[in-house]
Formats: sequence, C-alpha cells, structure tokens
Amino acid sequence: MKAKGYRIGIGYDIHPLIKGRKLILGGVEIEHHKGLDGHSDADVLAHALGDALLGAAGLGDLGQHFPETEEWRDVSGLIILKKISALIIREGYEIVNVDSIVNAESPSLSAYRLDMARNMAGALGIDSEKISVKFTRGEGMGAVGTGEAMEARAVVILSKFENDN
Ligand SMILES: [Zn+2]
Repeated sequence: MKAKGYRIGIGYDIHPLIKGRKLILGGVEIEHHKGLDGHSDADVLAHALGDALLGAAGLGDLGQHFPETEEWRDVSGLIILKKISALIIREGYEIVNVDSIVNAESPSLSAYRLDMARNMAGALGIDSEKISVKFTRGEGMGAVGTGEAMEARAVVILSKFENDN
C-alpha cells in the first residue's frame, strides 16, 4: 500500500440556542439552561466535522446525506459521524487529523474538550489524538455573541491508499 494523496475538507454549521432543548456538543451533553434547536440533536460540532469529512471525500454535504426527513429526526451527531466514517472508508480514505472550533458565548466549554474529542473519535473509529477541539466566543457580537446561536467549523485531512500492484 502507498499513499495516493491527501485531500482537505472544510465544514461549517450553526444552530439557534433556545430554552427547552438539551445542549449536545461533540456528543457530550452539557449542563446549560438552553440547548441547540434543530431537526436532529443539533450537535453543531459533530455536524461541522461530518460536513468536512464529506467534503474532503468529494461526497457532497451533510444535508444531502441526512435530510430533514422522519428517518433522521432527533438523530445523534455521533450516529451521523459513524455513518460518514463508513462512507469514507468505503471510498478508501482514512483520517489524518481534524481541527475544529466551536464558537459559543456561554457556558465555558474547555472542561469538555477531551470528552468531545473522545466521543467523536469513538464514532469515527480513530484515535482521539487525531481530533483537536478548540473554543472561542462571540465577544458580544452577532448571533453567537448575543447567545442566540452557536456555530462550529472543522477542517480535516484525509489520505487515500491504493495497492502497489
Ligand atoms: Zn447541524
């Protein structure tokens, strides 16, 4: 086997933050008085990562694979990552590394960093050291800064292997 080459992907997602919903980020349920709203569990970090993986593999975007149908109602972001992992493995790719940023005004998320990386790595079947999770704030500006939304971005590098013969 030799490396055929590398492919980069970018992913982005945003969900509104409302009362009466659980806050789930990177597959970790976080104690907070509001949660992210959406058709699924609205795990904005898992969605951004899934979108980046699909993009790097040239497989379209998250909405194409997981439309807002009954089949995907309340689906966990970790289930989405598990399904995307199967798709990219089938195409012959493996994940080199991931970097990601969650943009959220509150609560403070750094205590959950390792659990998020572990959960997403577990869903993807890779070592958690391959996943970097970072946090920033909206500094009072825009939908994130006023606490109306959270957003996430992720970039990923995939490598593709092929047989020598
Ligand atoms: Zn989403």
